[in-house]
Amino acid sequence: MPDQKTAKEGLKFRESVDRMVDHAIEIMNLDDGIGEALKSCASVLQVSFPVEIDGKPEIFTGWRATHSEHRLPSKGGIRFAPVVDQDEVEALAALMTYKCAIVDVPFGGSKGGLVLDPTKYKRHQLEAITRRFARELIGKGFLSPAQNVPAPDMGTGPREMGWIADTYRQLFPDDINCMAAITGKPVEHGGIRGRNEATGRGIQYAVRELFRHPEEVERAGLRGGLDGKRVIVQGLGNVGYHVAHFLTTEDGARVTGVIERDGAVLNPDGLNVDAVRSHIRETGGVKDFPGATFEPDGSAVLEHDCDILIPAALEGVIHENNAPRVKANLIVEGANGPVTYEADSILQDRGIPVMPDAYCNAGGVTVSYFEWLRNLNHVRFGRVEKRFHEARGNQIIRAIEEATDTTVPASLRSQIAKGADEFDLVRSGLDDTMRLAFQEILSARERYEGARDYRMAAFIVAIEKIARSYRDIGY
Ligand code: NAD
Repeated sequence: MPDQKTAKEGLKFRESVDRMVDHAIEIMNLDDGIGEALKSCASVLQVSFPVEIDGKPEIFTGWRATHSEHRLPSKGGIRFAPVVDQDEVEALAALMTYKCAIVDVPFGGSKGGLVLDPTKYKRHQLEAITRRFARELIGKGFLSPAQNVPAPDMGTGPREMGWIADTYRQLFPDDINCMAAITGKPVEHGGIRGRNEATGRGIQYAVRELFRHPEEVERAGLRGGLDGKRVIVQGLGNVGYHVAHFLTTEDGARVTGVIERDGAVLNPDGLNVDAVRSHIRETGGVKDFPGATFEPDGSAVLEHDCDILIPAALEGVIHENNAPRVKANLIVEGANGPVTYEADSILQDRGIPVMPDAYCNAGGVTVSYFEWLRNLNHVRFGRVEKRFHEARGNQIIRAIEEATDTTVPASLRSQIAKGADEFDLVRSGLDDTMRLAFQEILSARERYEGARDYRMAAFIVAIEKIARSYRDIGY
């Protein structure tokens, strides 16, 4: 893929993350060696194992990196992709450490990857490969409810998480907390409502929070609310689809471009995101989507005019070569590491704000934290108190009606007398998390003169918290 190649000519992903951390440490004037401690990866496992595919053994290679253990368990997704390496997994594990700290999730950072193109295998083959990878991780101490808890990432989803949870359960049937060994499971198998949409939902909440600050909207050269804003999304997978779907159906934004593997589709009046997704599912790509212009060079569309650009597919797609031509007013990093270190400073000089991955795609790990808590509590959120709140709401309505001799309108009645279910509580907890984290980022930007941008401010928020923890408990 040309994007990847160009990005790899620059700094490696890991170096890119380290440079950002170095910069934050310099701004914070931390000189007690904490930087070196922060940047080192605690442990990395590489495994190679055979699985029988169509009658012949095929060898698969994967990694799991644990970047930090200052809080346990360490947390981070597992990706299945044709191109994965140790450098990438370590960089992503480091990002998880910062991400958890930014959104106050009490976990260390970890990440896993397996070199595998999931589109090339049948369901039963994928199941065999996933279960074998899980056994390798479990056997080597890289997967357990207390120490290392994976989640979905690129190329994996609830189905794979379900297989991994079941593998763990079979190996440890006496572990009453076995379901907490992995998050992002199907709801019927110990998952939590709202996890599948969580990363995209969190990005929506992050963007909404920015739009609650008119001075930040102005900084991006924009005005007003989200209504009518033109959005281009790269990657209509789990993250890209959900954020595009919610921004269009709930906030009135227009998705004017969708970039996928085979090219991009454009419509200045807005694309129907659900219809584009169905088209991708049916045909394997965006080409020939009715009512839209097709552009075979998808990466060129990253440079198209729009209000908000959401790269939500893979890392390194905005690099030093194309950053000078990006026309978006605001970049929202849905994927991990889509803007390289070099591109970041070019965009900063050009006054294009970037909402960083470590903050805006943290919705996934936030709801994974809720799922882990749910699994340890062995009860779904809202189960105990839902009817109590419903009854309390009805009492309030009766009191208002009796005191005022009026009738509360039906629309308000149903809202007041609604007991929150798991979906409501998860969304509310996620919304609160994303709002507070953005406010902390703004506050860090105020406190440190050198932190001009959201990314630096977000890293500062994370490093402050992690450094405090390291100093309190030792390295
Ligand atoms: P996914 O596999 O569900 O979706 C990725 C999408 O990108 C697919 O639609 C794929 O066709 C498309 N794509 C792949 N290569 C492309 C290319 N060269 N150009 C355009 N489109 C391309 O993956 P996902 O879970 O949505 O993850 C996407 C990114 O978000 C990754 O960087 C991942 O690390 C990050 N992320 C995911 C989560 C999560 O909860 N799933 C959480 C945080 C961060």
